[in-house]
Amino acid sequence: MEASSHIILNKELLKGNWEFLRAYFQGKKISAVVKGNAYGHGIEAYVPMAEACGVDHFSVFNAGEAYRVHEVAAPGSTIMVMGALDEADIEWAIENGIEFYVFNFQRLDAAVRIAQKLAKKAIIHIELETGMYRTGFEEQEIATLIEKLRAASGDIVFRGLCMHFAGAEHITNYVRIRKQKINFKMALKKFRQAGLMPEMIHACCSAAAIRYPDMHYDMLRIGILQYGFWPSPEILIEYLSKHEAVMSPLKRIISWESMIMGLKEVPPGEFVGYGASYFSHQAMQLALVPIGYAHGFSRSLSNSGIVLINGYRVPVVGMVNMNCIAVDVTGLPAVAINDKVTMIGRQGEHEISVASFGEMSNQLNYELLTRLPTHIPRYVQ
Ligand SMILES: *Cc1c(COP(=O)(O)O)cnc(C)c1O
Repeated sequence: MEASSHIILNKELLKGNWEFLRAYFQGKKISAVVKGNAYGHGIEAYVPMAEACGVDHFSVFNAGEAYRVHEVAAPGSTIMVMGALDEADIEWAIENGIEFYVFNFQRLDAAVRIAQKLAKKAIIHIELETGMYRTGFEEQEIATLIEKLRAASGDIVFRGLCMHFAGAEHITNYVRIRKQKINFKMALKKFRQAGLMPEMIHACCSAAAIRYPDMHYDMLRIGILQYGFWPSPEILIEYLSKHEAVMSPLKRIISWESMIMGLKEVPPGEFVGYGASYFSHQAMQLALVPIGYAHGFSRSLSNSGIVLINGYRVPVVGMVNMNCIAVDVTGLPAVAINDKVTMIGRQGEHEISVASFGEMSNQLNYELLTRLPTHIPRYVQ
């Protein structure tokens, strides 16, 4: 059966994004963060596209995502889990050479025990608490941690030492970020003084990578930028002003499209759809589009969302239903059933970026993208 909408990913635009990132970060190692179903783009479609652009390192949140990347990635690519893992997951990860974060003693002990059982080393990245207060070893735990890592050197590969910033995309967090930088540098010093250093150090997400070049170390963990979005308008403006540029060098690679399922003439003086949220003041023509909140088109876009049809911007009228919206096509030339409807992407002069869609529905790019359901088919072109 045909799906009622589909997502298209553009590989030429992605190539441009990766060329920009490589040049901008001067060839520094970059891990492509593909958690949240590759920020909604779809892991299975996205990972091979990224590999075609030369990417060979992927970061995910949990074992389920790691499993999906592992299924489609080239054998030489590295997969790193930054978040949730239970003991069975740790066993699977060690068996398959999947790298993972260790941010407390429970996980360290489990990794060592399971590595011994399998007679295979666990490849770990030690995450340090620097002031985000999410995950990471505390400063006062470092001495014990170093002892344990030394004792376990036969069962683990100490691949990385890392941290995560608590909101590098907003200048209002500057004082907190500065404290995190100092804390991380002090913790690194303890490892250095103990003579126990990892193979690599990594700290930066997209915003930090743009804003804090002094924190680049050996690898960057880039999520949102690779998909052509900026972590915040602030970071884009900062980039543009630093480089006297007027346009983002990044391009969005995602489009989301459907088609007109039906047309409906509405006489003046009638309510449209469920309830009384929209009233026709004149004779109208509506187009019905088979996407709704079950497909990630938020209910908060009721009477306010915009889609593109035949190169025109047309507004959503009435409530967004579970599987359907109505849009006002009154007066548009030659509108017909099966015409293409663009919810995200371009038609002629007009573009609906996820950002404007996001602002309309009071969601961030990150949230809106990751809420595009996995069941929407993804095509690469
Ligand atoms: C999500 C995430 C990233 C990537 O963040 P972006 O802002 O999308 O670049 C990096 N590191 C960690 C630990 C993350 O959770």
